[in-house]
Amino acid sequence: MTVPILPPKILLIESDPVATNGIRAALAAPGIGSFDVECVRQLSEGLERLSKRGIAAVLLALSLPDSQGIETFDKVFTAAPDVPILILGGNVPEALAKEAVGRGAQDYLLPGHLDSYSLPRALRNAIERKAVEDALYVEKERALVTLNSIGDAVLCTDISGKVTYLNLVAEIMTGWSRQEAISQPLAEVFRIVDGGTRKTARDPLEMAVEQNRTVGLTLDCVLIRRDGFESSIEDSCAPIHDRAGQVIGAVIVFHDVSAARAISREMTRSAQHDLVTNLPNRMMLNDRISQSISLARRQHRPLAVIFLDLDHFKYINDSLGHAAGDKLLQSISRRLVASVRRSDTVSRQGGDEFVLLLSEITHPEDAGITAGKILSSLGTAHSIEGHDLHIKGSIGISVYPEDGEDAETLIQNADTAVYHAKERGRNNFQFFKADMNRKAVERQSLEAGLRRALERDQFLLHYQPKVNLLTGEITGVEALVRWQEPDRGLVPPAQFVPIAEDCGLILPIGRWVLLEACRQARAWQDAGLPPLPISVNVSAVEFRDRGFVEDVRTILSETRFEARYLELELTEGVLMEDAESTAAVLRELKMMGVHLAVDDFGIGYSSMSYLRQFPIDVLKIDRSFVNQITSDPDDSTIVSAIINMGKSLKHVVVAEGIETQLQRAYLQAHQCAEGQGYLFSRPLVAAQFAQLLQSGKTAVVH
Ligand code: C2E
Ligand code: MG
Ligand code: MG
Repeated sequence: MTVPILPPKILLIESDPVATNGIRAALAAPGIGSFDVECVRQLSEGLERLSKRGIAAVLLALSLPDSQGIETFDKVFTAAPDVPILILGGNVPEALAKEAVGRGAQDYLLPGHLDSYSLPRALRNAIERKAVEDALYVEKERALVTLNSIGDAVLCTDISGKVTYLNLVAEIMTGWSRQEAISQPLAEVFRIVDGGTRKTARDPLEMAVEQNRTVGLTLDCVLIRRDGFESSIEDSCAPIHDRAGQVIGAVIVFHDVSAARAISREMTRSAQHDLVTNLPNRMMLNDRISQSISLARRQHRPLAVIFLDLDHFKYINDSLGHAAGDKLLQSISRRLVASVRRSDTVSRQGGDEFVLLLSEITHPEDAGITAGKILSSLGTAHSIEGHDLHIKGSIGISVYPEDGEDAETLIQNADTAVYHAKERGRNNFQFFKADMNRKAVERQSLEAGLRRALERDQFLLHYQPKVNLLTGEITGVEALVRWQEPDRGLVPPAQFVPIAEDCGLILPIGRWVLLEACRQARAWQDAGLPPLPISVNVSAVEFRDRGFVEDVRTILSETRFEARYLELELTEGVLMEDAESTAAVLRELKMMGVHLAVDDFGIGYSSMSYLRQFPIDVLKIDRSFVNQITSDPDDSTIVSAIINMGKSLKHVVVAEGIETQLQRAYLQAHQCAEGQGYLFSRPLVAAQFAQLLQSGKTAVVH
């Protein structure tokens, strides 16, 4: 079934019946289709009919009984702006009819054009034109709304480069309103420069027209807003063609990529920098070293790599927390940067390791001078979260070209030299030497062996008596750890304790020593031997461990060993590091009933006032002084000073390493109460020591 197409309704507003009849007749004649004509004589009737809608076109006489002239048109047009209006120009001046056209009428028809041929055509044209106009209007509206709602900025120009259109986003981004921008040259409204060179970027229109295709613009394009504000943009420009395919203008579409560019810049930066200190990281350092090497090679100059490893950083991190640790690292990095030239690179490798590249040295020795500067600048206290933190470092240095011709080798060799600095008592620097690699390999194999030593039960304790210098009576015993390594034999602590401290193994090893010492001492007591105080050495790493005090408590209770028989030996370094927290831990131990001794006293820097703040019971004079007392007057003065100082602080003074009767006599003469040394007994295995104890006295008396 086909839907019948109804003939368009034409409203004829004409008071002259002759004219009305003529028009009806013209429209009734067969031709290009029929019309349904409704006639009214007055404007008021016409307006009423229009209000009911359904009219396809109006034929309007301007002179009516109730309205005259242009006013007639205006009223009809206002009542039905969407309906095409054709003016019947018969009984009015042509000028008036033209005026109506100027105000929105589709056309005017002179009496000669009202025949059955012309009139239907004129009406059809008017109706169709109106329909096309409507469609175009809708299309344009849709385009405008779309352009204003998209996130991209859109800007159009004509072929001469004058702006013809901007959408809302383009207005905001350029700072130009559409009214102001229209007809302005493109370069005025759309000011773009290359972000890298700051030169004016290529005219997008020119490129699009020249290449007659959509073109992307300069990669790093920056748009300068009317008020000077800059934003990074990404954009494209496409030519606009007319129907014949001729380019008549261009449309530029762009959007703000400032945020995206900032993120990508930040990503590149953070890939090359350490997050905590903001220093270049390993990756960037490697690049810099490689660049410096190529330059140094051409200029026949040396360069140096300094590897800094912080000593005992781990306790600070463990005891004060990571936030304080991070602040300390930041403080250290500032001092490092201040110790070198601007052209040098300070990088953080992670953890407590820093690597510096000195790219402008003249002699390798210059690196030594810088290393010395670094060590002394680190030396002064870092004030972090209310604590005065002291940290030291060990430095290894490698020099191009002798110690390596690429970044990796130079860093590795500097790292090897660090271990040697550590072996030499830390807080010093060492230049890399070729034979260090052999030692490094040796060290690594020791470390690997140590990791398995506990589970394989390879540790044992030797016991050395402490004696009353006057009577030779045994007053105590010191437990000294040994490592029974299948290939190397009995390894002395000096060879493995520092390694165990570095890799953290000292914690389980130290716990084992404490447990074994307490267990053994308790066993001797249980066997009926006279109760004897036992001393255990505690390294700084153990002492700083948060669980230390608890471990001591647990071990004492597990072994049912009385705290008053346990003495812990600490070195001066431990006391010096962080006086406040040290004193707190010492007090806890004291409260438990444990005795405390300062081991190797005299080689550190403790002053009397310093010592006074700690609850110490015993001072052990370092072997190196005792060794020299009878030959070096200086040392003998120090020793007597220490003895007096100990006495005034009410500490028991013990001299270590007494080997000769002469030394013993000197110490005794200076009222040193107790001593330890080969003269009385070497460290012994448990069974031998028990025998010695049973006999009551050491071998040597007077
Ligand atoms: P230290 O605590 O000062 O122990 C005294 C060291 O001097 C011992 O060396 C002992 O054998 C040695 N010695 C004793 N009398 C004489 C003497 O008359 N002449 C000479 N030349 N030496 C004598 P050892 O056992 O090799 O221990 C060395 C250091 O290793 C100890 O020094 C101590 O600091 C550390 N150490 C030993 N055992 C442990 C332990 O269980 N834990 C920790 N953390 N360190 C330990
Ligand atoms: Mg000791
Ligand atoms: Mg000692």
